Amino acid sequence: MLRIESLSFARGGRAILRGVSLSVAGGEFVALLGPNGAGKSTLLKHAAGVLPAPIGTIFLDGTDRARLSPREAARIVAYVPQGREPDIPYRAREIVAQARYPFLSTWRPAAREDRERVERALDRVGIKAFADRVFSTLSGGEQQKVLLAAALAQDARLLLVDEPTTFLDPHFQEEIFHVLSDVRRRENLALLVATHEVNRALLAADRIVALRDGEVVREGAPGTIASAEALEAIYGVRFLLARHPNTDRLLIVPRAEGSA
Ligand code: ADP
Ligand code: MG
Repeated sequence: MLRIESLSFARGGRAILRGVSLSVAGGEFVALLGPNGAGKSTLLKHAAGVLPAPIGTIFLDGTDRARLSPREAARIVAYVPQGREPDIPYRAREIVAQARYPFLSTWRPAAREDRERVERALDRVGIKAFADRVFSTLSGGEQQKVLLAAALAQDARLLLVDEPTTFLDPHFQEEIFHVLSDVRRRENLALLVATHEVNRALLAADRIVALRDGEVVREGAPGTIASAEALEAIYGVRFLLARHPNTDRLLIVPRAEGSA
């Protein structure tokens, strides 16, 4: 669904991405890890087409992104940007409905099919109850769900999601990752999700790609990333790991004060 080949990008004379290659298969959940400033958002923005053409090639469903019109690309890939949006004076449902634009034209105005798709997306993310509230009156977690619903309503086959749980409490973190896993399973969506939630990535992702200083430093199944050595290569610090009580997978745990 997504193949990035040797992507390099510089700003102000500084290399931000250096020859990054990665791919996401149909229906695959890939978590993008890496410290702050590693280049995760820049990579997602290139795949989403919101930054000018870099050096390297981005294939969407086998076609060079540069050859696709914005409308064609929007049918393949949807992007959920990082953080809060500036105050949007629209109701949640209206924001989700805007995601249907790639399918509409003067000759094909919004139809029942589009409205149904919007309702389905609201339902899938569990936000029907506040669909008529103005976006800026919603909490951070609710806003994040609206943006996710908009991406779903776009009917793309690949979702690029940038730190969907920043600023969210543990309950919303759990819900957002549950929704992501759920749509992946039910709608066979491919996911590329940048996150600092290492444990969620280890539990939910099929594969992890880790960036550091604009380069891929580790890539593999969660089991291969769940080691003190691999995590140190990514974040530059030593982590303590312990097994999850239900799945037996290794996860990171905080060090107890005063312990070795
Ligand atoms: P991440 O999402 O992994 O935290 P980013 O992709 O946001 O990293 O940023 C990677 C690096 O690129 C950072 O050092 C950041 O300061 C720099 N950067 C991002 N956008 C710009 C820009 N528009 N101009 C200059 N530097 C930028
Ligand atoms: Mg970022």
